[in-house]
Amino acid sequence: MSTENHVNESILNEEIKEWQKKNRIDHMAYLPGMEVLESEVQEKVIASMNNYDYTQYTGADVRRALDHENRTPEDFAALLSPAALPLLEEMAQCAQRETRKHFGNGIYMFTPVYIANYCENFCIYCGFNCHNKINRAKLSEEEIDKEMRAVAQSGLQEVLILTGESRAKSDVEYIGRACEIARRYFKVIGLEVYPMNSDEYAYLHKCGADYVTVFQETYNADKYETLHLAGHKRIFPYRLNSQERALKGGMRGVGFAALLGLDDFRKDAFATGMHAWLLQRKYPHAEIAFSCPRLRPIVNNEKINPMDVHEPQLLQVVTAYRLFMPFASITISTRECARVRDNLVNIAATKISAGVSTGIGEHVEEIEEKGDEQFEISDGRSVEQVYESLLGLNLQPVMSEYLYV
Ligand code: SF4
Repeated sequence: MSTENHVNESILNEEIKEWQKKNRIDHMAYLPGMEVLESEVQEKVIASMNNYDYTQYTGADVRRALDHENRTPEDFAALLSPAALPLLEEMAQCAQRETRKHFGNGIYMFTPVYIANYCENFCIYCGFNCHNKINRAKLSEEEIDKEMRAVAQSGLQEVLILTGESRAKSDVEYIGRACEIARRYFKVIGLEVYPMNSDEYAYLHKCGADYVTVFQETYNADKYETLHLAGHKRIFPYRLNSQERALKGGMRGVGFAALLGLDDFRKDAFATGMHAWLLQRKYPHAEIAFSCPRLRPIVNNEKINPMDVHEPQLLQVVTAYRLFMPFASITISTRECARVRDNLVNIAATKISAGVSTGIGEHVEEIEEKGDEQFEISDGRSVEQVYESLLGLNLQPVMSEYLYV
């Protein structure tokens, strides 16, 4: 496995290395208050990833996988292997057929709303981490209402609420209140917040949240340990079992993602797919979603600019997800430019964000305490522009298909 372009600890300065030595905790041991699930899923995901040797697959394996109507984990493994890259055109055509078969030409639109950017974690690849001196902010209830109202005027009916990961600054009640406010304006509410226990997910579901997305970042626990130096996020198994706790808490859907480029992206994409597949079998009613983020340059750290997941590799991952789990929703975020996003919604992605700002309170002018943006976005198109662009691709923008009776 090549690691030369992967993120590693060498970017840490001496002060932080010293701090880490003193504060290092066992990343595999649950902290007090963290719910421990009696679940076999984690073990199966990690075992399948460890056994995945992508160098053993051939073009014939890939063709066989493409010919199957229902694809197995073995097929998925072949589709993610380097042997599939020369067959990308066939993969894309096959993925496009699957997408149209299950989703028609509909593409769901939504926008993320950042209501706070405080974070207690220390992920070395992220500009929001607790050691980075950025402007932090948290919206009041009144400001959340203004922000949601402003977003709703764009015609969107789905929002994804993000808070950064600080339980102290954005407690569960605060997030619940944000969900209740969002419910006044939107039909579908997603959450991308810190992992929590199943009773807390149940509470947020009662407040109006429909789905929860948690990025595992990497499924390689050893690598994970070197990238997540402090905070609750350091606890690898608690994060990995978030989706299952959310489903136990009654959430309708769960989202999965590895941050492609942090470690060996083929293994991480394979583990992500297996994680989703195993939970789908265990909870057949769950609505499964994938995101496919590639690592981006970040604030205050110019050394991180990973380039090893190029567009063909990204397309390979997205099409492999589609072919393995044809019913899953696949989101393409504004980390990617308009051209890449349009290409992917044309083939396999089914959900696209629009009118995005990763800052706090950016949709309303009179909110003064605006926090810094988490990362640069590459597609700054408005809701209207994305809508028009989808129509131009002969796709149908969908705001929501849920009816509440
Ligand atoms: S990636 Fe998330 S949890 Fe980690 S530092 Fe950034 S905002 Fe915090």
